Amino acid sequence: MPLHIAYTVAEVRRMRWSDSALTWGLVPTMGALHAGHRALIRAARQENARVGVSIFVNPIQFNNPSDLENYPHPLEQDLALLEAEGVDLVWIPEVAAVYPPDFQTEIHLKYISQPLEGIHRPGHFIGVATVVAKLFNVFQPTRAYFGQKDAQQVAVIQQMVRDLNFNLEIVVVPTVREADGLAMSSRNTRLSATERQTATVLVQALRRAVSAWENGEIAAEHLRQLMRDVVLSEPLARLDYVSVADPLSLQEINGPVEQALLSLAVYIGDVRLIDNMQVG
Ligand code: AMP
Repeated sequence: MPLHIAYTVAEVRRMRWSDSALTWGLVPTMGALHAGHRALIRAARQENARVGVSIFVNPIQFNNPSDLENYPHPLEQDLALLEAEGVDLVWIPEVAAVYPPDFQTEIHLKYISQPLEGIHRPGHFIGVATVVAKLFNVFQPTRAYFGQKDAQQVAVIQQMVRDLNFNLEIVVVPTVREADGLAMSSRNTRLSATERQTATVLVQALRRAVSAWENGEIAAEHLRQLMRDVVLSEPLARLDYVSVADPLSLQEINGPVEQALLSLAVYIGDVRLIDNMQVG
């Protein structure tokens, strides 16, 4: 099937239900597509008869106005990638189609959205949960695909799906990295050449802590300090936070680590990057 570009909810619904026997995989994105998105699309392509993608830079999940303003929008390139990957349907809504003037519903998760990104990006997960719930209701997919790169986002969405009984399966896809380890991100295109080199500090910090843990250094505070030291050794990088947290509750661990989500957020220039790895 050739790529169908939809702008309205009605068009998406018409496509989705043109044959109700078919399974649909949904890949929600904010565009500026890269190999990370491609991995999600390929997983969806393998497991479903039809694949839908949304491209929507969701204003209510941005707590920093300049981050929203500077978010890349290479639409032609994105459409070429979707076509090459055999995507069936892309929804590219206007902001006003998603949030009409009388819009008033927000989805707030009490606990899982509070630590980590929740502390440093107030309101972010209200925006994420609200828009993802809408995407689920518009597409009504059989399965929806999310990247492990945004580990807390995955946890928030899985919790929401359980809490609100969304009738779909969440599939989590491992983080896709550049050859030097940098996690792929649409924001990477905003880095200068020097900043791009500096940006590997995130994966270096994670690898340092993972290898320390594998070698028996299991004190959570020590692992956080190792990550902090790597970031602080890089003058162009500004640390936002490092975390060694319980992989389910996302609460910081104190004392010995049996299993954990290691994560961090770092500013390189004015671009904020995040990354994570798991141990145990
Ligand atoms: P975004 O367009 O940044 O909102 O990302 C859309 C989806 O792609 C989210 O589920 C992300 O977690 C996922 N994603 C982004 N970068 C990567 C990556 N490097 N590897 C795997 N998935 C990713």
